[in-house]
Amino acid sequence: MTAVDLSQLPENRLFIGGEWVPSETGKSIAVTNPATEKPLAEVADAGIADGLRALDAAHAAQTAWAATAPMRRADILYSVNRTLMDRRDEFAALIVAEMGKPWAEAQGEVDYGAGFFRWFAESAGRLHLEGQFGVEPNGQYRIAVSKRPVGPCLLITPWNFPLAMGARKIAPALAAGCTVVLKPAEQTPLTSLLLARVLEDSGVPAGVVNVITTSNSPDVIAEMMHDPRARKISFTGSTEVGKALLRQAAENVMNTSMELGGNAPVIIFEDADLDEAVAGAMVAKLRNGGESCIAANRIYVQRSVAADFVRRFSDKMEATRSGDGTDPASELGPLIDGRQLAKVASLVSDAVHKGAVCAVGGAPVDGPGYFYQPTVLLNVPENAQIRTEEIFGPVAAIYEFDSEEEVIREANNTPYGLASYVFTRDLRRALRVADALDAGMTGINRGVVSNPSAPFGGTKASGSGREGGTEGLEAYLETKYTGIQI
Ligand code: NAP
Repeated sequence: MTAVDLSQLPENRLFIGGEWVPSETGKSIAVTNPATEKPLAEVADAGIADGLRALDAAHAAQTAWAATAPMRRADILYSVNRTLMDRRDEFAALIVAEMGKPWAEAQGEVDYGAGFFRWFAESAGRLHLEGQFGVEPNGQYRIAVSKRPVGPCLLITPWNFPLAMGARKIAPALAAGCTVVLKPAEQTPLTSLLLARVLEDSGVPAGVVNVITTSNSPDVIAEMMHDPRARKISFTGSTEVGKALLRQAAENVMNTSMELGGNAPVIIFEDADLDEAVAGAMVAKLRNGGESCIAANRIYVQRSVAADFVRRFSDKMEATRSGDGTDPASELGPLIDGRQLAKVASLVSDAVHKGAVCAVGGAPVDGPGYFYQPTVLLNVPENAQIRTEEIFGPVAAIYEFDSEEEVIREANNTPYGLASYVFTRDLRRALRVADALDAGMTGINRGVVSNPSAPFGGTKASGSGREGGTEGLEAYLETKYTGIQI
């Protein structure tokens, strides 16, 4: 694997108006490698004035970017895609260093993130060809319907996919003709800054993309949202913060897209191919170490195959190799920080204390690094917190069920509705259950649903709006109707 190279990143700088500038606070934020707990780099700590400066730049660039030929916008996005793929290992090394995921998964994230630039480049060119032109029903005048960009957007991303979460927002925003200010998570800002470099080198004009890093997100973002020039907020993160941002967005009636938390059920019926179900449940659980909004949180297995499934699944969990992502043999990285490690440990001890049985793992790994053992919990009681809370770690809780009706009721018994997974060989049952699950996404006989060409998003407390697919572009567009007297 490639060694991490920070030489491309100007130290302690924000990217505003096409320039790498210091923050008004003069302060910096330390970025730590979660596998070693050693400092990795420092980035500038933006204050409120920096946030407003970034918004000034995005606002100033908006009209010209919206007027840029769609094919030119498409060419730039294609170029970003190619550069990301050419520099795949450099990005993967940075993702491993700041976030901790295994090497192969980091490479997979670069492919996934780069895929959004290609997918939206494909739609950027033909976007403004679409629309309607017709006669209104009384024959009095003509109706023209077209699309236009929403305007300057605030994009806020979490730490679990440092490249892909930003790419999933920036690519459609730019395709639509919007300018943006990106604020990545405090733990993983480096990948976003390197992406800004690539965007700059690919010909994105000054001010179209701005990146600020801050340790004071609540105040910096609140001031930007208070400014009516910010027309949209697209947020990926926890439901709690998403709700607070929705309240703030109401003030200026901002356009919003919310990708929030999940509590994904995996349902394994007795007629499933058990090898496929074990493999699917493993990837749904351990992808990104379980630190994914679509991670399997509750695994339901029909009683007649439960013992067999638990044995096979537990063997695989036990055999999973943890380690620093720089070791190509590592299949499971550390958690992002000490706080997340403590949260996972507390969810497991609460469940065990209340009567759950720990079949595999069940403890943090001695440091350095924020590692937690791959863990399997059985007989988890009704009152255990892990039944309702997002785990965000390598802990699988397995439940048994008897009937289809019972498992659908259980699976939907959550405020969340992001991903869900069903394993069965019966096509009718698969479609019936997928229809009945109140979730934005269902994987049938597969544990991975993310794809740039498919609409990603949730129902209920998991958010509103979709990213990727054709819906991902719509999120950055307004509909314009023009009535024409002839
Ligand atoms: P988080 O605490 O909500 O933070 C997410 C982002 O919001 C970070 O950039 C954070 O900045 C910023 N932020 C925090 N408080 C803010 C405020 N008051 N105003 C404005 N910005 C604020 O979530 P997280 O712990 O990083 O991420 C984990 C959560 O994200 C999980 O619930 C997961 O399910 C969800 N997630 C959802 C999706 C999806 O597509 N649905 C994808 C990935 C993750 P700081 O870093 O400075 O705090």
